[in-house]
Amino acid sequence: MAQGVMVIAEQREGEIRKVSFEVVSEGKRLAEKLGQKITAVLIGSNVKDKAASLGHYGADKVIVADDPRLKHYTAGAYVSLVADMVKANEPAVLIMGASVQGKDFAGRLAARLGVGMAQDCTAFELEGGNLVATRPVYAGKAYAKVTFSDNRPHIATARPNVMAMNQPDTSKSAEIVDAAVNLDDAAIKTKVVDVIKDAGGRVDLTEADKIVSGGRGMKGPEGYKVLEDLADALGASVGASRSAVDAGWRPHADQVGQTGKVVSPNLYIACGISGAIQHLAGMSTSKVIVAINKDPEAPIFQRADYGVVDDLFKVVPALTEAIKKLG
Ligand SMILES: Cc1cc2nc3c(=O)[nH]c(=O)nc-3n(C[C@H](O)[C@H](O)[C@H](O)COP(=O)(O)OP(=O)(O)OC[C@H]3O[C@@H](n4cnc5c(N)ncnc54)[C@H](O)[C@@H]3O)c2cc1C
Repeated sequence: MAQGVMVIAEQREGEIRKVSFEVVSEGKRLAEKLGQKITAVLIGSNVKDKAASLGHYGADKVIVADDPRLKHYTAGAYVSLVADMVKANEPAVLIMGASVQGKDFAGRLAARLGVGMAQDCTAFELEGGNLVATRPVYAGKAYAKVTFSDNRPHIATARPNVMAMNQPDTSKSAEIVDAAVNLDDAAIKTKVVDVIKDAGGRVDLTEADKIVSGGRGMKGPEGYKVLEDLADALGASVGASRSAVDAGWRPHADQVGQTGKVVSPNLYIACGISGAIQHLAGMSTSKVIVAINKDPEAPIFQRADYGVVDDLFKVVPALTEAIKKLG
């Protein structure tokens, strides 16, 4: 009988991503409610020394698949490995972060296993041992609770920055087990030849704790200088609306919204962004939303916790100076 929670940890360049610790923490809470164990899976190349950290966040066991061919995520290799692990371990619930990789991975894994899957969830509950996932629908206007068919595992991805992360406890340790990596090279249909890093050196928007975002109100690419300065003072990442991206002022990687990235930082400062539903779809689960807009009727103010009605080119530099003074 299927039992226990399996969590897929995601690494990039050998470092475990923050969302993985959030998902392990949430997986631990679910496993405790089930009275069962949580197993984390770590896949990569030269990653074994990172496995212990998953134990600090609550994993009882970590299965490590370490092989040079696994350095970068490829659906063929990762899905085939995890499908075998699922068959061997029979978890009742399997969760991972709703990153670009996680969303791709979860969909393909669910299809391979013939089980149900829910993407980009913001909360999990258990009813009679079955996973019930909450996920935003209609561009974040409503939340749906979804249940799964009887087939196990119930697979879901968790939106980054939403689930509470446990305090790491270095006195906690997990059993670390090496997985046999029986990969058929012919099954690996894609090969990552190069990873081109974002030159900005800021934290990826999906994992950022603070985001300063600009829209059409920035007037042009040079307008973002004031946002970059504020982001530097705050230690924030910089986002953009689709209008700004479509105008070529910012790269697509910066776009927040329905057709961009879904973000959930502790602080989201929207500057010169009207707050169209497609933009809100990408940021409405942010913990604190600040809007700076010269139009008091802009819809963004309906979602904002704090609002400033004024010219952003006056307000943002003043805010930057005030933050710098705070040290
Ligand atoms: C299928 C589809 C998908 C979409 N996906 C996305 C998406 O992923 N992300 C996204 O953002 N949009 C998306 N859109 C576009 C969306 O509908 C809006 O057009 C877009 O979000 C508007 O961007 P904006 O707020 O920057 O521009 P505007 O709506 O033009 O707003 C600009 C704002 O700046 C303010 N402003 C101007 N000058 C100043 C100043 N000096 N100081 C202060 N405020 C000022 C104005 O008052 C105004 O409120 C999508 C649309 C469709 C149809």
